[in-house]
Amino acid sequence: MTPRPPLLDAALGYADRGVPVLPLRGKLPLIPAAHGPGDPLYQQCRGACSQQGHGVHDATTNPDQLRQWWRRWSHANIGLRTGVVFDVIDVDGERGRHSFQRFLTERCGGVPIGGPRVRTGSGAGWHLYVAPTGLPDHIGVLEGVDYRAAGRYVAAPPSRHSATGRPYVWNAGRGLDTPLGQVPPALRERLAPRPIDRQPEPAPTVRPAEPGHPYGRAVLEAETARIAGAHGPSQGRGGERNKVLWEAARNLYNLVAGGLLDEAEVAGELERAAGACGLLSDEPRQTRRTLASARQVGMAHPRGIPERPASGARGQDRPPKDASHHPPFHPHRNPDRARER
Ligand SMILES: [Zn+2]
Repeated sequence: MTPRPPLLDAALGYADRGVPVLPLRGKLPLIPAAHGPGDPLYQQCRGACSQQGHGVHDATTNPDQLRQWWRRWSHANIGLRTGVVFDVIDVDGERGRHSFQRFLTERCGGVPIGGPRVRTGSGAGWHLYVAPTGLPDHIGVLEGVDYRAAGRYVAAPPSRHSATGRPYVWNAGRGLDTPLGQVPPALRERLAPRPIDRQPEPAPTVRPAEPGHPYGRAVLEAETARIAGAHGPSQGRGGERNKVLWEAARNLYNLVAGGLLDEAEVAGELERAAGACGLLSDEPRQTRRTLASARQVGMAHPRGIPERPASGARGQDRPPKDASHHPPFHPHRNPDRARER
């Protein structure tokens, strides 16, 4: 009986911890893309066609699939999907190490980031494994430093770097059994979506004693109706669903943070509305990411009942026509997010 290839062994070990795995050639997905330029599904399909060849969306924890892949390509490198069990701070080369160390010293009180750590096959880089933040990935969060989160992956030990031939290795005593590191607040700030930085002071508001206040309920109804009626890219006018979802969700989480609405109810209603406009089935992963981002921004800025009801009319039970007092939605460079614009 032939011994199990070491890469397969490692791949199965990661999957056993719940980490989705995909085969890589060097640092790139090994399985050829299912859809090329000219194919209407190019950069649109994330595996709904049930073929393989969708980059990180091929990643799986299914041991049978992993055995099949690594029996076919026994030397394939191992890619681990981030944003599931962990996020990864990817510190590239001397330049990245320098800017990262300086940031820790100047902004984080010099406290090192613990947790599992990989020395990359290039020889000069680190991968720091941290607890998932729900924040979006961010290429170049510092000079030479990328943050890999939902929808991304990293090459993992014992993969070999294609240029140097050297393996990725866990630092001694810092394997995946080590409790995950924590992203320090100063770095979180850099990772958070930008609009909050320029947000004006909210108007004074009143916090009710119980969630489920009529004002909150009216806003909930108006915002979820706005999402459910938002247009997708094929319905003329270009798509607006992601933008509407983000803004409406953030507005509602402002009210959750302000004590007007129940968080679980808001989450459920948002999901229902995202389903009604088709977003949830068209782009499930992106939709969850949008919701996570909106929740984070919204919860950071509590709002209660406005002291002066919007434009007179029927007083506090009437939702404002535009509940947003925030700057507009800014897509990041993420092409998924930009696609609907
Ligand atoms: Zn496909």
